[in-house]
Amino acid sequence: MDAVCKNNGLRNTEGQTQDLHIRQIPVFVLRSSLPIGALVLLRLYLVLLTWLNTYMNELTLILTPDYRPANFLPLSVVSWQDCIRLLVLDKIKPLELYEHRFIHSAKLAIQLPAVAVTKDWKGFKRHTRFSRSGLFVRDLFTCQYCNDIFESGELTIDHVVPRSQGGKTTWENCTTACKECNYKKANKLWRPNNNPWRPDYHALAARRKKLPFNVGHHSWYTYLGIESPVDKAA
Ligand SMILES: [Zn+2]
Repeated sequence: MDAVCKNNGLRNTEGQTQDLHIRQIPVFVLRSSLPIGALVLLRLYLVLLTWLNTYMNELTLILTPDYRPANFLPLSVVSWQDCIRLLVLDKIKPLELYEHRFIHSAKLAIQLPAVAVTKDWKGFKRHTRFSRSGLFVRDLFTCQYCNDIFESGELTIDHVVPRSQGGKTTWENCTTACKECNYKKANKLWRPNNNPWRPDYHALAARRKKLPFNVGHHSWYTYLGIESPVDKAA
C-alpha cells in the first residue's frame, strides 16, 4: 500500500487508495475518456480541413461583445482556418458573412464570417505586451534615427541602451530602427528622435488607424470606424 501511495496514489471517497499509473494508460483509453461531443467536433473539424481548398485567403475581423476590434490591427484579424477553429470551439459568433464563401464538408456547409464577435472576452489589458509588431506600430514604421519609413521586413528592434550594457527588451528601452541605422549604432548610445514609451491598447489602436492595411470585407469599415472609399467618393 505504501508503494501505491508513493506512486501517484489517490485516495477515493471510500478511503481506499487507487494507483492511477497515468503513463501506462493506453491512448485509446484516454481518447475514450473525452466527451463524445468533443470527439465529434474534433472529427468534424478534421473533415472540414480535408475538404477545404488551399486558395482561400479570406480574413475575419474579431470584435469584442460591444463591437470594437478585439486588438489593434492586424492582431484583431484571423485567418479563415483560425476562424473555423474558433467557430467549431464555439468561441465566436458570426456577425457579417462573406457572400459567396462557404466551407464545405460532406454533410455541412459553413458560410465564412467576415466579422465575428468573441464569446471569450476578458476585457482590454491596461498595458500591451511588448512585441515587434506593436513596437513598429507605436513608431509608425519610422526609423527613430534617420526618420525614414520602411516596410516591416526592413526594420529592426533597437535597444537604446544596448543589451551588452544591461539594456532590457522593454517598451521603454526599445525603438524602431532601419537595418542601416541599427548597424551604424551598434553598441553606441544614440538618442532616438522620440523617447521610447509604453503604449496601452488604445494608443496602439489609434496609431494603427493611421497606417494602411488591407480591408478584407466592406463591412469592416463600419466596425473599424474608418470611412470607406465609396463614402469618400460620394
Ligand atoms: Zn534609419
